Amino acid sequence: MRRDPRLTVPGMLWRTLFVELHCRTGGRHESGAFLLGQTEDTGRWVERVVYYDELDPDAYRTGVVVMYAASFGPLWELCRSRGLSVVADVHVHPGPAWQSLADRDNPMIALAGHLALIVPDFARPPVFAEKLGFYEYKGAHRWRNLGGRWIGRYLHIVD
Ligand SMILES: [Zn+2]
Repeated sequence: MRRDPRLTVPGMLWRTLFVELHCRTGGRHESGAFLLGQTEDTGRWVERVVYYDELDPDAYRTGVVVMYAASFGPLWELCRSRGLSVVADVHVHPGPAWQSLADRDNPMIALAGHLALIVPDFARPPVFAEKLGFYEYKGAHRWRNLGGRWIGRYLHIVD
C-alpha cells in the first residue's frame, strides 16, 4: 500500500522544536534533528525529537549538518528501545529553505517515503509553515515537493 506522506505533530513539540533548533545554531551554523514516532499507512505521528548534536557533538562543526555513520547506531538503539521509528528529519538553513544539492543527493534516511523538513533563516522566529521546505524522498535522488501554500495538506499541527 502506498504510504500517505501526511505528518502530524503535537503543537507543543512543534513550537519547542523551532526554539531549540534556533538556539542550537548559535546564529552561526545549521542545526537539525530526527523526528521520531509512529508510521502508519494513513500517516506519521511525531512523538519525540532527537537533535543531531545529541547523537554527535561535532554534527555542526563544518557549518552544515553532517551525520556520520557512527551516529546511526545510537539512533537505531533509541528507536528500538522506545518502539519508535524515524518519521522525518528537519534542519535549518541560514537563508531560504530550498533543498541544496547536498540535501538532494544525501537523504538522511535513504528510504522512499522519508520526509525532510527545512527551516529558513536559522529558525529565527516567527517561523511560518508556508516558508518551510517539505520534501518526500522518492528514491534514486528524486524528491517530491510538499511545501508551499498547500503544505497544510501534508503537515498537521495539532493541539
Ligand atoms: Zn540543507
